[in-house]
Amino acid sequence: MKKNQSTVTSRRNFIGGLAAAGTAFAIPVRMLAEEASGRSQPAAPLKGHFHPKGKAPSKFTVDLLKQARTTLPFADKRDFEEQKKGLIAPMTEMKIMADAGHVAWDMERFQFLDKQEDFDSIHPSLLRQSKLNNNYGLYEVIPGIYQVRGFDLSDISFVRGKTGWIVIDPLVTAEPVRAAWKLFQKHVGQGLPVSAVIYSHSHGDHWGGVRGIVNEADVRSGKIPVIAPRNFMEHTIAENVYAGNAMNRRLFYQYGLLLPAAPHGYVGQGLGQGVSAGAPGLIAPTRLVEKEIEEIEVDGVKMIFQDTPNTEAPTEMNTYIPGMKALWIAENVIASLHNIYTLRGAPVRNALNWSKYIAQALHRFGLEAEVMFASHHWPRWGNARIQEVLRGQRDLYAHMNNQVLHYANQGVTINEIHNVYELPQGLQNKWFCRGYHGSAKHNSRGVIQRFLGFWDCNPATLVPLSPADSAPLYVEMMGGSSKILARGQQLHNEGKYLLAQEILNKLVQAEPANTAAKDLLADVFEQLGYQQENPGLRNSYLAAAYELRTGIPQGETASSSSPDVIRAMSTELFLNFLGIRMDSRKAEGMRFTVNLITPDNGEKFLIEMENATLTNIQGFQSDKPDLTLTINRTDLEQTMMGAKTLEAQIKDGTAKVKGDVSILAKLASTMVEFDPRFQIMPGTKALTSNVPKIDGYKVEVGAPSPE
Ligand SMILES: [Zn+2]
Repeated sequence: MKKNQSTVTSRRNFIGGLAAAGTAFAIPVRMLAEEASGRSQPAAPLKGHFHPKGKAPSKFTVDLLKQARTTLPFADKRDFEEQKKGLIAPMTEMKIMADAGHVAWDMERFQFLDKQEDFDSIHPSLLRQSKLNNNYGLYEVIPGIYQVRGFDLSDISFVRGKTGWIVIDPLVTAEPVRAAWKLFQKHVGQGLPVSAVIYSHSHGDHWGGVRGIVNEADVRSGKIPVIAPRNFMEHTIAENVYAGNAMNRRLFYQYGLLLPAAPHGYVGQGLGQGVSAGAPGLIAPTRLVEKEIEEIEVDGVKMIFQDTPNTEAPTEMNTYIPGMKALWIAENVIASLHNIYTLRGAPVRNALNWSKYIAQALHRFGLEAEVMFASHHWPRWGNARIQEVLRGQRDLYAHMNNQVLHYANQGVTINEIHNVYELPQGLQNKWFCRGYHGSAKHNSRGVIQRFLGFWDCNPATLVPLSPADSAPLYVEMMGGSSKILARGQQLHNEGKYLLAQEILNKLVQAEPANTAAKDLLADVFEQLGYQQENPGLRNSYLAAAYELRTGIPQGETASSSSPDVIRAMSTELFLNFLGIRMDSRKAEGMRFTVNLITPDNGEKFLIEMENATLTNIQGFQSDKPDLTLTINRTDLEQTMMGAKTLEAQIKDGTAKVKGDVSILAKLASTMVEFDPRFQIMPGTKALTSNVPKIDGYKVEVGAPSPE
């Protein structure tokens, strides 16, 4: 299953092991003991489907997709013209190998998308986007600006400077970046070196491949400046640490990590075809853009940076090159509605703020720009087109914020808004406003979550029973599992999938070992998946169907947090994360105070264990600590990476201790390893668990999520 080059989790070997399995269902899995119960006339498995239990799209699904074909603005083909404009050279090698020997990037698996006009299991709008994302090669944006597209989830851009090439957003991992640079040099690079690097924002698909193109010594010596928006380093990892394991697990749904690329499986991610699986790395920026608007001459090119915090990312910036009338719009504007709420899980983004920064970009630069390019998708040429896109995107986010809150102020709740809110027709007819990353459905719920939170204000949902605790009563009152299965089958056969999922989910919650119930719910999810325009929603339904049918694969879990990412983690963030890794139930009755000093960077922390809670505060020290631990931050990093235990650091004198050193072992004993395969759908978890034990003070957070 080649799909699993999408190694966005830290558990690279876990997923890598799955990738070797060839097809999705060949993965060795341990299933729960299951008992089949009565089920009437299930739909027949589909020959050619990647899963032995996979089904064909129903006539309801086929009709729905047919309907979409007739109502969407397919006559507007400008995206296809823009997508292929300026092609200098296609990439001829379909696979890019990782240094570690596996495939880092594979475009072969998406070629099926271009072999057919339509598929009855792929929403025509999503198919169109995935065909557009099949561009794979080197493109001229304008003379002096070039992009390599289709080598990763994101695009890498090159701007001609006085002495060399200014690189913008070096992808997710090093190997695709190296391949992109090679292709670029072969045709237009003229052998000139990299003269500067710009990271547009903090997400991992905009800097993770930097080591493929830049030598860190050249950055440290000042030869190659690396420019990024303010607070860049804090945000590169902060977003993914505290709930990192949960986010990694949820990526299996949003990014469909277990689904092979196939008409009935994974068909691309909307932003791009997937995420590369080479070596991620990070070189810290040397020049931060601190002001709202800041002009910097980069290798002889005048660039105007526009700070756009709390938009698509917590820290992000646009760049205008007035000499070329070229607007780099980062990821603030793409050929899709973006996520206000991201399904992998993240704090909800600020749609109104986002809209305002697009409006500023329009009025500062967009009234004169002649080309606009971005970190995903393809450029827009001509001022009229640029204005059309900027104005549409501005209104897209503002409308969503305003109209959702308009409804909320009239009593529409978070549990209803996705069935009520709609984009205005004018925006629905613009391809670049359709939902290939965000969707109006999950974003509208996100807007309410941001302003009002999870509660719909009905006390019945305020402190509800857990699903597994309430479901048995439903099943009993509905007359037992065979009645529910019969009715569920009937609803399924009538194409009433949302109603079917209501009752079948109750049954699966009540009876996790009921294979017939899980299989039928999987069939329902599968049809819902085929019907989605949004790849995150499609993948989530299909991923749940996959796990209900197959169980959660039991590969080995192995650590692979990038050393660069660990180094970028502040000591405070590390200590905060220890407080999360700690199982408080194991710390009952413990009480101690530790002074932590890291002399090489001049930081001090007061760490306290009290009330089964681990806290820390920077800049403070206790007068009477139980333990004082002095260790250079660079040495502490060895422990954080798992290269050398704290015990060994103390033993060889690298770390100095004063007081009760047994505290460190006590604290370590409360630390728990998070399993990246926790159960989401009932009855899908294997009986065994093989999470490797890691050192109490090692950090396992994974690479930052791309987006
Ligand atoms: Zn991105």
